[in-house]
Amino acid sequence: MLPEDQRPVEEENAFAQFGVFVHGILEQHALNKLAVFELLDAYADGFDKAVSEGFPPNSYCDLRNLYFNDGFAFFQQFDGLTDCAGNDYEVLAVEQFIKTPMQGFWFRGYIDLLLKDAQGRLIVHDWKSLGRFKSKAAMREYRRQLYLYSKWVYEHEKRMPDVLQFHLFRKQRTEAFNFQQSDYDEALQWAADSVAEICACKKYPPSVDPFFCAHLCGYRNVCEWGAGDKR
Ligand code: SF4
Repeated sequence: MLPEDQRPVEEENAFAQFGVFVHGILEQHALNKLAVFELLDAYADGFDKAVSEGFPPNSYCDLRNLYFNDGFAFFQQFDGLTDCAGNDYEVLAVEQFIKTPMQGFWFRGYIDLLLKDAQGRLIVHDWKSLGRFKSKAAMREYRRQLYLYSKWVYEHEKRMPDVLQFHLFRKQRTEAFNFQQSDYDEALQWAADSVAEICACKKYPPSVDPFFCAHLCGYRNVCEWGAGDKR
C-alpha cells in the first residue's frame, strides 16, 4: 500500500454527497439543533452547495431533479422522530462511532440512531438514501450491517436491540425487523469469513463495473478503468 501522503485524493460523487447532506440535516435534528419546521428550508437552501458534483446522465430522467424532489418530499412530510403511532422516540445516541472486537479484527462504524420506543424497546435505526432494496436477498445483506452494530449495543446497553430498522428516505419507506439471534450469529460469521478471505488474498484484480467505475468510484479519475468510460 502506498504511504498516506502519496495516495491519490478520493473523489466525491453526487449520490454520496446527497446521502451525507440528508444525514447531516437529520443528525442536526436528532441533536435538537434544528427543529422539524426548519428542516425543509435547510434542505432546499443547502442542496446545491452540498451536492456540488453532477449526477450521471440518464435517458429517462434528470437525476438531479429526481433526487432533489425525493428529498424535498421526504422533509415535507417528516414530522420528527416518532414511531408509526406518532409517539416520540427517546434518542439514546446519534451518529455514534462504534468500535468493537470481532474474530481477530476491529469492527468500526457509525450508528445513525439508537432509539427507545414507548414500550421500552431498543431500536437500531439507519437512514438509507436508496429508493428500495433490489430484492429480499439484498435486504438481508444490508441487514447484516445492523446486526454488526448490535454487538456494540449489547456491550454498552447490556442487552441486544429489539428492533433493527432502515428508513429509505427517498421513498419514505421503513423496513423494520425483530432481532433474531440466528441472524446475528450469521452476520458475525459472515464478517469473520469475509475478512479472512480478504487477508488470504494475494492479488486484487479489478472488478470492473462500467457505471460504477465511470461515475461513482472515488479513484475514477486516476484509474485506467475509471477514465475509460464516461457514459
Ligand atoms: S477498477 Fe473501477 S472500482 Fe476499481 S479502482 Fe478502478 S475505477 Fe475504481
